[in-house]
Amino acid sequence: MGEEILENIAVIKERINNACKHSNRNPDEVKLLLATKTVSADRIKIALQAGHTLIAENKIQEIKEKYEALQEVPHTNHFIGHLQTNKIKDLLKYNVSCIQSLDRLDLAEKLHQRLLFESKTIEVLIQVNTSNEESKFGVHPNNVIELVKEVAKFETLKIKGLMTIGLFSAETEKVRECFRLLRKIQQEIISLNIPNVEMQELSMGMSGDMETAIAEGATIVRVGTAIFGQRIYPDSYYWNENKN
Ligand SMILES: *Cc1c(COP(=O)(O)O)cnc(C)c1O
Repeated sequence: MGEEILENIAVIKERINNACKHSNRNPDEVKLLLATKTVSADRIKIALQAGHTLIAENKIQEIKEKYEALQEVPHTNHFIGHLQTNKIKDLLKYNVSCIQSLDRLDLAEKLHQRLLFESKTIEVLIQVNTSNEESKFGVHPNNVIELVKEVAKFETLKIKGLMTIGLFSAETEKVRECFRLLRKIQQEIISLNIPNVEMQELSMGMSGDMETAIAEGATIVRVGTAIFGQRIYPDSYYWNENKN
């Protein structure tokens, strides 16, 4: 079991290296984030112990269940799921360093209030719905800049970049459009020089489309299935608001 995980990671690393070579990028610019939803703490630990220490969950319930067991191994936690405002307090108990799925102002406001109360700050990425699919979360591309300007006013929230889930499609060029759009928005925001806004991170690309994302500038690829195997729940369980 464990060997398989490490072999899969080696394959992913190779894919990252090759994709970087193709686009003349330095592989050090692309961080591998392990998407660990449905994966048991024991299996996650195998990756952590091998030095792959950037992980992310989609649901607070799963963070909670695995939290104790993972404390033995140093690692960094991001959050990549849909965050409901009534779960903010809960999420902040678990040492999450970055919320990649900030996609609306009311969530930012409530996060800020709570962080002020706890005298904490947190890193955030703004999640953008680049594929125009209703089933996916994220702010509409046309509204990103407005949202970034508002979120930037909350000094507890450290904006580090953008995140997106690409279109699920076998047509690479359509998927590429999503990633290209995210990068275009990033460049626009950089040119605006908004105080309290950094834009170095582009979190895009998953098991099926990481090469395309890297070619378009990804700095974080989020990989689950290709490392830990197929999940028992369909992704809609994690992505569809109605089922949260
Ligand atoms: C599950 C998930 C991933 C990883 O997807 P795979 O196809 O399993 O690699 C990436 N990003 C988000 C937001 C996810 O929920």
